Amino acid sequence: MKESQGASGLILNESLLWEKGKKGRSGFSMPRRDVVPSPVDEGLTGDGPDLPDLSEVDVVRHYTRLSQWNFGVDTGMYPLGSCTMKYNPKINEKQAALPGFAGAHPLLPAELSQGTLELLYRLEQYLAEITGMDAVTLQPAAGAQGELTGMLLIHAYHASRGSHRSKIIVPDTAHGTNPASASLCGFSSVAVQSDEKGIISPGAVAALMDEDTAGIMITNPNTLGLFEENIQEIARIVHAKGGLVYGDGANMNAIMGIVQMGKIGVDVMHLNLHKTFSTPHGGGGPGSGPVCVKDFLAPFLPVPRVVYSEGTYRLSGDLPQSIGRLQAFHGNFGVMIKAFCYIMSMGGEGLKRASQLAVLNANYIKQSLKESLHLPYDRPCMHECVFSDRLQEAEKVTTLDMAKRLMDYGFHPPTIYFPLVVHGAMMIEPTETESKEDIDRFIEALRAIVAEARENPELLKSAPGLPKVRRLDETAAARKPCLTG
Ligand SMILES: *Cc1c(COP(=O)(O)O)cnc(C)c1O
Repeated sequence: MKESQGASGLILNESLLWEKGKKGRSGFSMPRRDVVPSPVDEGLTGDGPDLPDLSEVDVVRHYTRLSQWNFGVDTGMYPLGSCTMKYNPKINEKQAALPGFAGAHPLLPAELSQGTLELLYRLEQYLAEITGMDAVTLQPAAGAQGELTGMLLIHAYHASRGSHRSKIIVPDTAHGTNPASASLCGFSSVAVQSDEKGIISPGAVAALMDEDTAGIMITNPNTLGLFEENIQEIARIVHAKGGLVYGDGANMNAIMGIVQMGKIGVDVMHLNLHKTFSTPHGGGGPGSGPVCVKDFLAPFLPVPRVVYSEGTYRLSGDLPQSIGRLQAFHGNFGVMIKAFCYIMSMGGEGLKRASQLAVLNANYIKQSLKESLHLPYDRPCMHECVFSDRLQEAEKVTTLDMAKRLMDYGFHPPTIYFPLVVHGAMMIEPTETESKEDIDRFIEALRAIVAEARENPELLKSAPGLPKVRRLDETAAARKPCLTG
């Protein structure tokens, strides 16, 4: 096969800063003190914190080397299903760093914040248009917090009608945050099984839906990468019993400009700006999970709201039925700036094209690998496809072994063992930003690994062989983390 990229080469060892430090070494020169030491200074001369003494070059090399042990979307393909690890244009980072934005303080009065308020207001409008909803809050800082917001809105809606419902229907393919958010809001979740096509059937929902059920949470496309084709009929069933439909929009990257969730029965949904709209997902960075609602839920949205009248933007807390605040201020503003710039620079047609390419790339991978890996749902997929390790069972090679081996070929492993409905799941999401050449290289790598599984299964058991850190005991790593090296 073609040479894999960035998988081997100069791998530098690195000791701890404490091992590197030498007493008296320094990274800066301080001018000699020309004032009398104060008592506070004296207090500090005793046993200070045990920090190593290092020169500037020691520190720069240390952190640069550590950064090279890492892998990110700027280094290579990152096919982590459900996470939409696409490449995000650097221009959007640049806009977010403009001093007028980066230095804006959330407590500045409205007359000094017209630009930032306008950006929030217009971003809400764009997101409403993309989702086919009527009103948006940008406050939630993550998808999961968006879900909680949605649950609080559904609860507030029922309460306003004097009704208190206790259950939420959640499909067996849902992301773990769905039942967690429902439960955090005090609902108990009732699982609905997906059918043999990998989607939810109206019959299964009708059998569960009653007047103690506040609503249903539907991820569309779902975590198998399949479009929930029955969503309109399911919405009718839920609405007929007075329930609401929550849409988990984390997979919006498959349907931008193609499906407006508000038009197919969804009443409230969240988006992950840190997946779909130009902020990387994961890595612990700031996120943003806006919640979009239909008009009838707008009175319950979090305050303050950005309002516009007589040529001026301002913040308004005047929403008596609001569920209250979710953040001290407005959410993670930097992420919103990037989303706004991304939407502006892509335009409606560009967003649609991005989704079309994301879907095309996933289907290309699905078709190219279905001879090599078992494909539990052999139907056209959306932005991601899910395989399993069933064909490798005879060799006792697992999804984990194959995922680890991908690192030797220079690729970040895909999401594994999720969704739970597929035993030994391998969930691949290439995104629209990978070229055909890179996708072909990835396909070739997986084919080569499948051949190795037949010919040399032992090799896969000890993979990866090339990276700095080999096969870890993941249970011990989680239970007994060693934080000092
Ligand atoms: C990522 C994801 C979430 C949660 O989003 P976070 O921002 O990580 O909290 C919820 N549902 C689905 C389907 C997701 O992929």
